[in-house]
Amino acid sequence: MPNAFVDLVPEGGLKLTPRHYSYLKISEGCNHRCSFCIIPSLRGDLVSRRVDAVLREAEKLVHAGTKELLIISQDTSAYGVDTRHETRQWKGRDVRAHMTDLARELGQLRTPDGATPWVRLHYVYPYPHVDQVIPLMAEGLLTPYLDIPFQHAAPNVLKAMKRPANEAKVLDRIRKWRDICPDIAIRSSFVVGFPGETEADFDYLLQWLDEAQLDRVGAFRFEPVEGAAANDLPGAVPEEVKEERYQRIMEKTAAISAAKLAAKVGRVLPVIIDEVGEADEDGSVGATARSQADAPEIDGNVFLRDVGEGLQPGSILNVLIEDADEHDLYGVPHIQG
Ligand code: SF4
Repeated sequence: MPNAFVDLVPEGGLKLTPRHYSYLKISEGCNHRCSFCIIPSLRGDLVSRRVDAVLREAEKLVHAGTKELLIISQDTSAYGVDTRHETRQWKGRDVRAHMTDLARELGQLRTPDGATPWVRLHYVYPYPHVDQVIPLMAEGLLTPYLDIPFQHAAPNVLKAMKRPANEAKVLDRIRKWRDICPDIAIRSSFVVGFPGETEADFDYLLQWLDEAQLDRVGAFRFEPVEGAAANDLPGAVPEEVKEERYQRIMEKTAAISAAKLAAKVGRVLPVIIDEVGEADEDGSVGATARSQADAPEIDGNVFLRDVGEGLQPGSILNVLIEDADEHDLYGVPHIQG
């Protein structure tokens, strides 16, 4: 029996995030050696958690009120590579420590009121088996969202970065993913001004972004990190060129985002409530929410008007999208007629 004086950790584990969403770490460390990154030297090679332990924690969190699980690691697609995808028993089934098995099992979780929690996959490198999780998204078992840190698109730069799963056909695969699951939101981050990046490489990246039409993009100017191999690469890009490229990529991705969000106006979408505001003088209450395309803290919001009294953070409801800007949506609860 839990004892409030002894059990400092609440049911569902200690969390630094609001009760309605939780981060779930599936592994630590990384087997890659991207030239700009020092994580492997700080945290070592990949060490995956047992799949039954991950699923037990996920179930506990969901039973304790989590409505959205954010699956994190340094390299989610590589989960279980270090344990040769060892099999464990979970609910009477054999489950491999493998991203696709884990995703399938996470899709079976239900909240105490029988709903499917949102499950988001972060830090997914586009290995071929990623294709297998897209149908789970199309079936509504996984949130149609993939966070893939591409970092660049030009082959020369990717090679200098020593990026994993760096393959030319990724645009074709993105198209196929969208055929299977049209609502999939793809988030990524990119570095501009990496040593040796030429104007042609940067143009290649912009054209690639035009084709890829990613939903959410974060861009960064290359900064040397103490101890990273990239610091010794030739072809440092001058600061003013980095800045100019940064402004260009931001403009490009903001325009893509604005067009994608504008296309959602008039649609009815599920959102999760993060915060409910105070009532105005006229008694109307607003709320800040997120759609399935928005991970907490890194993506956009859906700002809601007239949500009525009594709405709680973590509630999931359908809203009519009334307006959009570059990063956010605006809507109102949808009353089915
Ligand atoms: S950036 Fe590369 S080396 Fe660093 S954690 Fe990610 S995959 Fe591993």
